[in-house]
Amino acid sequence: MTFFLIGHDFKYETEATVKLFFPAMRFAFCTEDAPCAGDFIRTVFTEDRILVETSLSGVFRRQEVPLSPDGDKHAAEHALCRTLYAHLMEATGVTPPWGMLTGIRPVRMLTAAVEQGSTLEQAAAHMQQTYLVSEKKLALAKATARVQLPLLQGLAPDAISLYISIPFCPSRCSYCSFVSHSIAEAGELIPAYVDCLCREIRIYGDLIRTLHLKLDTVYIGGGTPTAISAQQLAQIMDTLQSSMHLDGIREYTVEAGRADTITREKLEVIRRYGADRISINPQTLNDAVLRAIGRKHTAQQAVDAFLLARSMGFDNINMDLIAGLPQDTPDSFRNTLDRVIALEPESVTVHTLTLKRAADLYAQGERQIANPAAAMVDYSSSRLPVQGYQPYYLYRQKNTLENLENVGYAKPGYESLYNILIMDETQTIFGAGCGASTKLVCPEGKITRIRNYKFPYEYIGQFDALMEKKEQIRRIMEGADYGV
Ligand code: SF4
Repeated sequence: MTFFLIGHDFKYETEATVKLFFPAMRFAFCTEDAPCAGDFIRTVFTEDRILVETSLSGVFRRQEVPLSPDGDKHAAEHALCRTLYAHLMEATGVTPPWGMLTGIRPVRMLTAAVEQGSTLEQAAAHMQQTYLVSEKKLALAKATARVQLPLLQGLAPDAISLYISIPFCPSRCSYCSFVSHSIAEAGELIPAYVDCLCREIRIYGDLIRTLHLKLDTVYIGGGTPTAISAQQLAQIMDTLQSSMHLDGIREYTVEAGRADTITREKLEVIRRYGADRISINPQTLNDAVLRAIGRKHTAQQAVDAFLLARSMGFDNINMDLIAGLPQDTPDSFRNTLDRVIALEPESVTVHTLTLKRAADLYAQGERQIANPAAAMVDYSSSRLPVQGYQPYYLYRQKNTLENLENVGYAKPGYESLYNILIMDETQTIFGAGCGASTKLVCPEGKITRIRNYKFPYEYIGQFDALMEKKEQIRRIMEGADYGV
């Protein structure tokens, strides 16, 4: 589809608005007017007005609104997106559930407004008026903010969290767009990777000690951390234990992930080194769907992994599900969720399938998928609260089916602090391993990101040069007043 951007430079914002209606569409952008035979969207700024025209499947529409004369760029951008949004709603008959909100952290908009003195109701009303968010999603965002606000109060200024990345998986799921490597392809890199990771953890231990910081939460994620051997996992967790004080931390998660990697031996390692929260992620309990997404385990294996962890004393277990997987149906999803609830995990995270370019599914050409994800998401948000699970973190991603969201639900007291902190961006998070990024949050709110290499071979091969960048962390943190 041709997308004309004439007389303005709001490409990013307008494209994001159009993607609410055409999530997987590729556009040919033109900044000069020209005749166009096929489907097109034309956005034009004149001196005093905004003009939006579309020609979709042979139907032409035109909308024009006056431009405010005050020259405020932000207001002009919002007016353009709002005009475009209204136009596309009419042209497509689609009403996006999150309205014209394209940001990934709607709850942060609410909590930030509350921190600045608004009530939650005022913040929510403002969000609805500005972005035309549906009542249902507004209620979800408010419920999530209500759980988060007390947990975010009183964060110590010198507290930081640590994320450790283990970017290997037993095989690659068809929907995956993470930087994760199958053991078959990259397995030989694992020993060197683990050695480098341990060196990086020791560097962070030194930084934490010399900068007098307090470790608040630890999250070992991936990939699939349990894809590596029990000995390698022990090497990492042992390094962590000997490099920094873990006694005072509030949460220590290991994302056990896929059932085909979870063994008694690995769970014993996780327990021995003090992790108090694990995640076992079936994504679905429908074997046909598991096969369709390229998972090499059955639903029963996921259930067995959960029961094994429970029998070994794990009392804070999360289970991840995905709404909208290929071949899944609302009935089958309901069945999955009901079976998961029957297991009584402490938290359940319901993601919505995204179709990013890297995903094999996308490469297969499934551009506009007719998918019942909304029915699945709706079932989750109605059923889980009735069972005592409240939404506690929520984020959105680009190219999510039907512009839906990912929501973590937890029983009271089992909310993952790390998940809240990563979305709230109010605490520094050190990232170790490839694909990880360090996010330095200075007391005045400025955020600096320092990224590690994406791929294991780069991380291993250029490790020394990469570690020199850690001095940047020291300089930034020494220059900021953390009140310590
Ligand atoms: S387990 Fe997760 S990270 Fe690994 S391939 Fe599947 S979706 Fe990607």
